[in-house]
Amino acid sequence: MFREFFSDEDILDIFKSNDEKVIISLNEKARRITNSIYQNKIFIRGLIEISNYCKNNCFYCGINNKMKIKRFRLSSDEIIASSKLAYKEGFRTFVLQGGEDSFFTDDILSRIIYSIKNLFPDTRITLSLGVRSKKSYKILKESGADRYLLRFEAEDEIFKKLHESSQILNIRKKALLDLREVGFVIGTGFLVDPPFTNHINTLNSIKFIRELEPEMIGIGPFIPAKGTIFEKYPAGSVKNTLKILSILRIENPHSLIPSTTALNTIDKDGRIKGILAGANVVMPNISPDVAKENYKLYDNKNSTGLESLYGLKALDELLNEYGYEIDYSKGDNK
Ligand code: SAM
Repeated sequence: MFREFFSDEDILDIFKSNDEKVIISLNEKARRITNSIYQNKIFIRGLIEISNYCKNNCFYCGINNKMKIKRFRLSSDEIIASSKLAYKEGFRTFVLQGGEDSFFTDDILSRIIYSIKNLFPDTRITLSLGVRSKKSYKILKESGADRYLLRFEAEDEIFKKLHESSQILNIRKKALLDLREVGFVIGTGFLVDPPFTNHINTLNSIKFIRELEPEMIGIGPFIPAKGTIFEKYPAGSVKNTLKILSILRIENPHSLIPSTTALNTIDKDGRIKGILAGANVVMPNISPDVAKENYKLYDNKNSTGLESLYGLKALDELLNEYGYEIDYSKGDNK
């Protein structure tokens, strides 16, 4: 399909606009594009939160290394058991996400990936474990992992304001290239409305995605996390998230774009609003309770009901109301 790009001016106008008609027509256009490629099918991914240990200090993140929180990491058996339960429910993609935890060596991860793929060859494994070496990515790919999510979080000067100086944006961007080179299907994205952000910065984030052409794009509103230095900052707006989601969809027709948990946390109808603005993926949380209780990236993070392992029927019913349905396949991008 022909890729259409907005001019910088058009994007800035959309950001500034409060005209409901403009926003509705943007969301509708994005939705039409999604439907023309993926029809009314919504892919599901089972999210397993494997560890909240993290060496990094992303200032916004509720599991950063400065937080005095209860730390957990799942055992290999617990991770594999979660994938078994989820497989029974119909999930065919498992997303292993966690902080940058050196406990999870290439060897340990490879064994987990290999075991899951051995049990369930008809599945996809997505990893979201932060920056690792290219050699490590190669080993994980060869063990059977398929996709990797690594948000760049924010463009240049805002990235610096959100992270410690040792965390460098270009290292994250280089990691995305490494991942692609070793054969991963890649996903990236950014926070909507984090502290200090501005329209030009968001425009630059959209343009970075335009150039990278990732197969998956994940954006979600910043939400304050108690105990972080940003705990008093306001959460990102639903309206901005939906505008950005639609722009990204229109510019990247084939990408897999989730309607994120963060969006659903700041708006009880966020899940469906994201889909109506062009998203085509949802990622219910299939982690065991110890992870759900302690993987608190931000306040009030939702992991029950439609967001959980056993919520698929209810999720499907909700989607049906709007003419959509769950697609239980591995859900590769077209
Ligand atoms: N460690 C991996 C990494 O850095 O990519 C994956 C785990 S990280 C916790 C997953 C995502 O959570 C980040 O990419 C970030 O965008 C999101 N996140 C963290 N804190 C958040 C907050 N306060 N509000 C919204 N999203 C947040």
